[in-house]
Amino acid sequence: MKTTAENLQGSRLDLFIDGRFTRPHSGQYVPSYDPTTAEPWYQFAQADAVDVDVAVRSARAALKNPAWHRMTQTERGKLVRRLADLVLENAEELALIECRDNGKLLKEMRAQMRAVPDSYIYFAGMADKLQGDTIPVNKLDTLNYNVREPVGVVGMIIPWNSPLMMLTGTLAPCLAIGNTIVVKPSEHATASTLALAELVIEAGIPPGVFNVVTGDGATTGDALTRHPGIARFVFTGSTSTGRKIAGNAAQNLVPCQMELGGKSPHVVFSDADVERAVNGVVAGVFAAAGQTCVAGSRCFVEAPVYERFVEALVERTRRITVGHPTSEATDIGPLALAAQLDKVQGYVASGVQEGARIAIGGRKPLDTALQRGWYFEPTVMTQARNDMRFMRDEIFGPVVGVVPFNTEEELIELANDTEYGLASGIWTNDIDRALRFARDVDAGTVWINTFRSAAYMSPNGGSKHSGYGYRGGFEVMREFSRLKNVVVDYSGAMQDPFVIRLR
Ligand code: NDP
Repeated sequence: MKTTAENLQGSRLDLFIDGRFTRPHSGQYVPSYDPTTAEPWYQFAQADAVDVDVAVRSARAALKNPAWHRMTQTERGKLVRRLADLVLENAEELALIECRDNGKLLKEMRAQMRAVPDSYIYFAGMADKLQGDTIPVNKLDTLNYNVREPVGVVGMIIPWNSPLMMLTGTLAPCLAIGNTIVVKPSEHATASTLALAELVIEAGIPPGVFNVVTGDGATTGDALTRHPGIARFVFTGSTSTGRKIAGNAAQNLVPCQMELGGKSPHVVFSDADVERAVNGVVAGVFAAAGQTCVAGSRCFVEAPVYERFVEALVERTRRITVGHPTSEATDIGPLALAAQLDKVQGYVASGVQEGARIAIGGRKPLDTALQRGWYFEPTVMTQARNDMRFMRDEIFGPVVGVVPFNTEEELIELANDTEYGLASGIWTNDIDRALRFARDVDAGTVWINTFRSAAYMSPNGGSKHSGYGYRGGFEVMREFSRLKNVVVDYSGAMQDPFVIRLR
């Protein structure tokens, strides 16, 4: 893999189309910034509609390439398996690239790069298990069966927070099925997807199967989502961008899979183990500096234990180390972009204006070594209410609002009083209560006595404005394949077409 964190410094990255790096049609390159210093560290190509068209044509041609189209599912599975091995061999480099691009902790990116190959292996094994079925019909001497086929070219738009992890959830099954792909990574974390493109070719996957167009959302992303040559879209990002993409795709009647934002409720009952619950809430909202779609940013605590819980949460938050993402001692790194820092500061200020109180955090760290980067202290807000703006909108930063509740009925009202429905969590030792919550909460995932425990084997998806469609598990193989129904009459006789027989 030629794209390494060291080689990237001061370099220019081209688009990846039809198996090779290609200069952009406009000749323009844009800087990518290091979030720990706010300095540019490499440049990437700005693709326009012409480049997007070339990439989609390449992916369409690859669909018909016998080296891909006429390959057995077992052989395709082996290629995906080979890709898994290559990602694992290059895991350290890929982790370094992503850490420097989005400022997330090196230790977290390392852990993700261990999980990514496992996900490829999981879906590689499914390549020859996607089967159709035969259907008994009310006609004699008739064979009626379904086969599952690739949908075609899949357009993927991924965010900056965990680029390869997010990409893998749909790329791995799409490759296993035999689709071809055009991906647009975020302008804020572009390099790892291009590095992966090198590995895709090294794995023996034919040119054109995996193409990468880089650039900003408004230009490159918009051109991709308007292209009529795409058969299906996968989008991971904010709800507002999801709306635009779904609108563009609808013009071409193209279905989408939408993984959007969240405002997840995280619940603590009086009977819970307070220390475990505090650790769960801290991990749920402060991990990755809160830049996770499932962040448990609305914390509801049963009234009798509210004061004690807030005290313990503040005390635990005080012990969090904000620092450089490559340091082993760091718990929280910087936010990925300057705009994100402004957004987080704005939401904390609006919360205070509406009557919430900052129990801890609420500002940039005072440490002089951290002044240039986009760092923000983990923040606990009390006297919060569900109707405050910072409790309704997705902040995507290390901020949690804590609200007391008295009854289960009141809790469910509060938990579901949000436009989102991605994830939720509950801490209790009462199994009946936990299962009642799992039944009544409006969320795609429910964590009981744990939080942010994701697995590529289980289907993850959202409800309401958190999106639609699933990632993970066998369900995703169905989402990215298409049923074709075949009817065979083996009676040897064609009936008179104008004689209608009533049975
Ligand atoms: P955005 O929606 O701004 O961006 C996501 C992706 O969409 C980026 O690649 C972006 O490109 C692209 N994009 C932006 N505008 C357009 C457009 N008009 N047409 C096509 N593509 C476009 O989200 P953020 O980057 O701010 O990411 C954070 C958001 O993502 C959060 O709201 C979070 O909840 C959500 N998210 C959801 C996840 C889930 O699984 N449900 C997982 C991770 C994040 P560019 O960045 O280059 O402008």
